[in-house]
Amino acid sequence: MTLEEYQKKRKFDQTPEPKGKIKKPSKSPIFVIHEHHASRLHYDLRLEFAGILASWAVPKEPPKTPGIKRLAMRTEDHPLDYANFEGIIPEGNYGAGKVKIWDKGTFQLLPGSAKNPQEGNLEFFLKGDKLKGKYVLIHTDDKRWLWFKSKN
Ligand code: MN
Repeated sequence: MTLEEYQKKRKFDQTPEPKGKIKKPSKSPIFVIHEHHASRLHYDLRLEFAGILASWAVPKEPPKTPGIKRLAMRTEDHPLDYANFEGIIPEGNYGAGKVKIWDKGTFQLLPGSAKNPQEGNLEFFLKGDKLKGKYVLIHTDDKRWLWFKSKN
């Protein structure tokens, strides 16, 4: 995992987003969901792996209950510092529009889960304000994943 793609896409003399660097992993891995009012409103799910935030763009509101399946498109890894970012990405920049934190907390990988998204499907327990409980991310193809809350 690397921040090369993240940094290549951004002009840090124009965007207030953090340039970031790969950090020491948190004691409890964190997650954050950004509400991103870009050309189209979407939610960015970010999960910490190895001092970086693996990221997925979710076109609809994150699932709070089982039975709702959401498409989640894998996007470039973000720096851990991005977990605190809120602000406005100016017009003419990648992802232009308002970004705010929709939910934030920690997560735990569950037994049977892959260790990271490079290795396969993820099962994890979210401890956030809005999202709590067991969630699954299934890799379908290329950048496409399915994200849903598990029944048990
Ligand atoms: Mn986004």
